[in-house]
Amino acid sequence: MSVYAGTGEWELKKMIIEIGRRIWTRGYVAANDGNITVKINDKEILTTPTGISKGFMTQDMILKMTLDGDLITKSPKYKPSSEVKMHLEVYRQREDIGSVIHAHPPHCTGFAVAGIPLDQCVLPEAILTIGAVPIARYGTPSTREIPDSIKPFVQNSDAILLENHGALTFGADLVSAYHRMETLEHAAQIVFLAIQLGNVNLIPRDQVDKLMFLRDKYGMTGRVTACVTRPPQPAKEEPSRDVVEQITKKVMDRLKN
Ligand SMILES: [Zn+2]
Repeated sequence: MSVYAGTGEWELKKMIIEIGRRIWTRGYVAANDGNITVKINDKEILTTPTGISKGFMTQDMILKMTLDGDLITKSPKYKPSSEVKMHLEVYRQREDIGSVIHAHPPHCTGFAVAGIPLDQCVLPEAILTIGAVPIARYGTPSTREIPDSIKPFVQNSDAILLENHGALTFGADLVSAYHRMETLEHAAQIVFLAIQLGNVNLIPRDQVDKLMFLRDKYGMTGRVTACVTRPPQPAKEEPSRDVVEQITKKVMDRLKN
């Protein structure tokens, strides 16, 4: 069942156009890159067109197709992206997903090019919403190679890096899928800065456990894979009263002399 079952298509197209505008404005895509889909019912999706900047779309450009990949909207001008195949793979595996977004944000794509997965526990927001983000192996765009490469990760994650290509995020609705793309890129940017500064401190395991407890308590949706932590920190010992007194006495003695 789609969360958009009762929403009009015109309204959904407006929402897709707005998210496309944000993706382009934030530099998550260049030229005509990227694509967005929304599941409108158990059989159909709306998709953005190929060959059009996602920052400048209008309602007539958004196309309807079946979850089997057959085009419903007959348009002489616009065609869906060949990359929609990976969106269909996500919908095929996950009934809970209502929207999928693909983009090439520079920082997280940099990690995908470097072959470094974003799988460390470094920021509470990222731990809660995207968890450990895997890298799906490189595939030739437009072929079955990309949908095949994401297959092993779709069940356990709502954000996947595509090796030497970009990122894919998904969620129960369009906004949650988009927010995961923002969180992914923001986390990648911060980790990149920390690496440049020379140190990446991981959040200790006991603290991550507390976050995951809160995630369950507040019923957060989506699926996250546990990220890499560091061992729990030993409790800091307060200096005893005797030690403080001894030090104070020594300092006072020195001052007298
Ligand atoms: Zn792409």
